[in-house]
Amino acid sequence: MNFAIVGGGLAGVNAASELRRRGYDGDITLIGAEPHPPYDRPPLSKGLLLGKETPESTTVYSEEWFAEHDVDLRTGAPVTGLDTRARTLVTGGETVRYDELLIATGSQPRHLAMADESGADVVYLRTLEDSARVARHLTGSVVIVGAGWIGLEVAAAVREAGGRVTVVEMLPWPLHNVLGDEVAPMFAALHRAHGVDLRLGASVAAISHEGGRTSVRLGDGDVLHPDMVLVGIGAAADDALAAQAGVPTDRGVLADARLATAVPHVFAAGDVAVHDHPVYGRLRVEHWDTAIKQGRHAARSMMGGVEPYAEHPYFFSDQYDVGMEYVGHVAAADAEAVVVRGDPDAFRMTALWIAGGVVAAGMHANDWDATALIRPLLGRPATDAVRDPGVPLADLVTAGDA
Ligand SMILES: Cc1cc2nc3c(=O)[nH]c(=O)nc-3n(C[C@H](O)[C@H](O)[C@H](O)COP(=O)(O)OP(=O)(O)OC[C@H]3O[C@@H](n4cnc5c(N)ncnc54)[C@H](O)[C@@H]3O)c2cc1C
Repeated sequence: MNFAIVGGGLAGVNAASELRRRGYDGDITLIGAEPHPPYDRPPLSKGLLLGKETPESTTVYSEEWFAEHDVDLRTGAPVTGLDTRARTLVTGGETVRYDELLIATGSQPRHLAMADESGADVVYLRTLEDSARVARHLTGSVVIVGAGWIGLEVAAAVREAGGRVTVVEMLPWPLHNVLGDEVAPMFAALHRAHGVDLRLGASVAAISHEGGRTSVRLGDGDVLHPDMVLVGIGAAADDALAAQAGVPTDRGVLADARLATAVPHVFAAGDVAVHDHPVYGRLRVEHWDTAIKQGRHAARSMMGGVEPYAEHPYFFSDQYDVGMEYVGHVAAADAEAVVVRGDPDAFRMTALWIAGGVVAAGMHANDWDATALIRPLLGRPATDAVRDPGVPLADLVTAGDA
């Protein structure tokens, strides 16, 4: 019996550990394209840039762990072929047979063609190698295209290291699609207070590299000359292998509520999985916590489990001395109200997003007890007390609003 896992990221390695934890004693083949054992990516745009972490400290399990748990980890081994009828896959010229298969191939940064073609020093931040490239430029001048989470985290690292950074964002606010008009301005204020040149409602018209000098021309005609251009405009599911093999995909590998695909014996988890969530409907989540939990859930399903994956999406970010956590799921544009408690100007606050008359999501900045209070409110009716910023979150829970 062999359970194969394609993708040596967080979802893949957590599936392997859960299989052993649950007593599966057959073979496990964990196959990753990268030359490293599985590692955590969040430090790549945070502590690793600033030397607070090392590549070793990002590693999920030691070499000994894989030996002790009898997991056949293959690194630097992209899977190039998959035959779901014969139940085989091909890696490095070798054919591997599987009984159950997990596709955990993650996602890849979206590319900006004009950046790729410019000849300039352009970085997309996904791997340890990318992070090392960014780290080399931290004290220089950097242009970041896109004020999403990764772009803002790198901007914070550049400022903390003493470099100069311009962030160019098309939308009116950083993180606008997730946080909306009510909360996103807080992150603009945070970065401007730390000296980031934040260009909002702005576009990049052209990038060129001539005579050893990079030029980034903005839509308004301004021209910047950075040492490096970091493009952080989102990620796309890496579903190429699945699609080639005929596993149904739609901007990710389609999976049901238990993370099984429509193809027998094939499951999906992590960034690559588009799954049916019992609360949020069809969903693809690109979060660290989800990769861990879905990897484990898929492992249980591979062993015959029938439970739906019902965890609320959760993510975190750290920028300067502000830490935030967000739990739940709603596009900011779909929220009918946002209730902000605390003091956004002091970067200590909470927000609840109301949609469909219920609490759909919540976040905090530097209010570390808040996530535990927000979780029980998710899906609950947005009563007057919930909508009243004068009523503390803790009182909502004890008053039975949760
Ligand atoms: C810089 C950065 C910072 C982040 N910070 C945060 C954060 O602060 N908070 C948060 O919640 N989330 C964060 N994330 C997101 C989080 O890291 C991801 O959601 C998580 O890594 C997804 O794990 P995964 O296992 O699904 O995919 P991945 O981590 O992408 O792993 C998939 C692996 O599969 C491999 N692969 C792909 N195709 C093949 C193939 N054909 N054969 C073999 N292997 C293959 C890939 O090379 C990759 O190693 C961050 C991501 C990045 C890039």
